[in-house]
Amino acid sequence: MSHRSIFGRAFVAGELRDGVLITIADQQIIDVRDAVHAPSGSHVADGVIVPGFVDVHVHGGAGADFMDASADAVAAVTRFHAGEGTTSLAATTLSASREHLHQAVAAIARASRAGGTGAQICGVHLEGPYISVARAGAQDVASIRPADIFELSALLAEAPHLRWMMTVAPEIDGVRALIEHFRDRILFSIGHTAADYAGCVAALEWGASHFTHLFNAMTGLDHRRPGAVGAALTSVEATAELIADGVHVHPAVLRMVALTMPHRVALITDAVRACGMPDGKYKLYEHDITVADGAARLDDGTLAGSVLTMRQAVQNMVELAGLPLELVIPLAAEVPARILGVADRKGKIAPGYDADLVVLTERFEVSATYLRGEMLSS
Ligand SMILES: [Zn+2]
Repeated sequence: MSHRSIFGRAFVAGELRDGVLITIADQQIIDVRDAVHAPSGSHVADGVIVPGFVDVHVHGGAGADFMDASADAVAAVTRFHAGEGTTSLAATTLSASREHLHQAVAAIARASRAGGTGAQICGVHLEGPYISVARAGAQDVASIRPADIFELSALLAEAPHLRWMMTVAPEIDGVRALIEHFRDRILFSIGHTAADYAGCVAALEWGASHFTHLFNAMTGLDHRRPGAVGAALTSVEATAELIADGVHVHPAVLRMVALTMPHRVALITDAVRACGMPDGKYKLYEHDITVADGAARLDDGTLAGSVLTMRQAVQNMVELAGLPLELVIPLAAEVPARILGVADRKGKIAPGYDADLVVLTERFEVSATYLRGEMLSS
């Protein structure tokens, strides 16, 4: 068994501590202790050591998209995001034809079995196609359809080894039966929906337990009509995603939500293929999108995913939303690991957990990423 160790300031047991020595063997953390010096041979971290980020909603990056349905595309996306601090993710699809969606899931499943050098694919997140045309955002309207238990069964059968999430609109035909049928197998998320507060509370009772990119593509919070956002905020257990790019949600609202439901918020990227690429024109499924000033938009101005990375999301929560790093790290690691059903081995720096670690510099640059004990080579 080969042992390696990494030494420095680290986020352990909910706090940032100096002089932490983390010992790794066989992909796992086997020991975490305070040490006065770095033992010889240990890696002295150039920055703070935090648990690897877990992104439960990511479509693409570095010019590739999970909808490309190829091994090369999956490798490019997972590799790119690993360099930005993401060590685990749910490969996220879009509303597409039955055939195209099936091909994408099959490619994700194959890649996850083969492994790779990038972020680990722990789950699939189907974003649509059983969603609201009225709240489609940049999703392909022609591909939106009523819920189909048989279609979903066939998709699940491609990747029974992965965790599954699905974004649905409660008001769409067949969605209630779908949730009730698969609730023990799939984490259902409310999103791309025109449902009001009562409609979303009902969906939580059916078995949904998560909200996709809170505030975006759903009914907002009004004091007389609390909407989907009100249903998320007042829920006791349901979790919610936030796109912390400073464009999708105002920094003050990012701050408010993180302080209101700190154990139930997951930072996501919702990144598309243009993420990590220069400004310009890109494709999002059949749509043309333009990337400029840190946002991806359709020609009519509708936001079309993001060009955010998890590293940048953490930075924004600290620098734009004014939150302490200790409060932000769990939103990027522990909470999403719980959502993805991998919290027994991901999201924390503790013995027995996978050695997924990120070293963040003072300027929030990633100086190193460890993927199950292996340092990502640049
Ligand atoms: Zn998305």
